[in-house]
Amino acid sequence: MPEKRTLVAIFAHPDDESYSASGTLAYYASLGVDVYIICATRGEAGKISHPSLAYRDVLGAVREEELRDACRIMGIHQPLFLGYRDSGMIGSSDNNDPLSLNMAKSSDVIGKLVGLIRQLRPDVIISYYETGPYAHPDHVSSHKYALEAFNCSGNPDMFAEQLKGSVTTFSPQRLFTVAIPTSRIEELVKAIPEDDENESRYPYQQNQEDESEEDEIHPEDVGIPDEDVTVYMDVGILYETKRQSIAAHRTQHQGEGVFSNLPENLLKDFFSQEHFFQVAPKTNPPPRYKGLFDGIWE
Ligand SMILES: [Zn+2]
Repeated sequence: MPEKRTLVAIFAHPDDESYSASGTLAYYASLGVDVYIICATRGEAGKISHPSLAYRDVLGAVREEELRDACRIMGIHQPLFLGYRDSGMIGSSDNNDPLSLNMAKSSDVIGKLVGLIRQLRPDVIISYYETGPYAHPDHVSSHKYALEAFNCSGNPDMFAEQLKGSVTTFSPQRLFTVAIPTSRIEELVKAIPEDDENESRYPYQQNQEDESEEDEIHPEDVGIPDEDVTVYMDVGILYETKRQSIAAHRTQHQGEGVFSNLPENLLKDFFSQEHFFQVAPKTNPPPRYKGLFDGIWE
């Protein structure tokens, strides 16, 4: 690696990074890349898996610490928080909280992201796929804000008040979203044993207190077409790191959470690959890379 390289991941809730990209974040950190997570909220509307771990008013602070633990496990920098409140699932009363990401003014969120991009100067950014993977309002809006910030951080006319001292415009080279190819989800759904008690038929799914009976997984709603995947990252060697970073989010699952419900070989197979789709810049034909920095320095 010829010079200092930086990777920034933009997520909305502590634990999203661990399920979707912890292998990749840990991998690049192990190569000497500066890896940061920007987390828009502290996951205040999430689950409380056991009353001994948290109560509602302190859940955000507890989840902040859980994310800090996960970052230590991945070997990346400590997280940066935008300070919004978790907006909860679609239709929940948390959507209307005036402090929520959902109620935030777009230009405020984009301005904060642009400010951080101009300071951290990442070559590559990752965030959510435009639909989720499931349509949590914070996932969908974080995708939109990450894309806007990616597009305007290099423009001196945008958020010009930030441009003083050592802060200058900066254009990252690539924006990827985390994604799972539909075929992988189909394989997983087929392989999961039928069990009515099993709350975690799909480990990416956010557990909520008001889980509906209709938890059927439709792979095409959650995944992206296989041919749209830009980068397949084989992170099998970091499986234990990924497992531990997910387990660090103790309030979000009992014990090892999804790990207690699914056969080990299935989990290992599923979590040994991470997938990314390049959102920007758009090229025709779409690029295929061996890694997120392929052609930059890899
Ligand atoms: Zn989330």
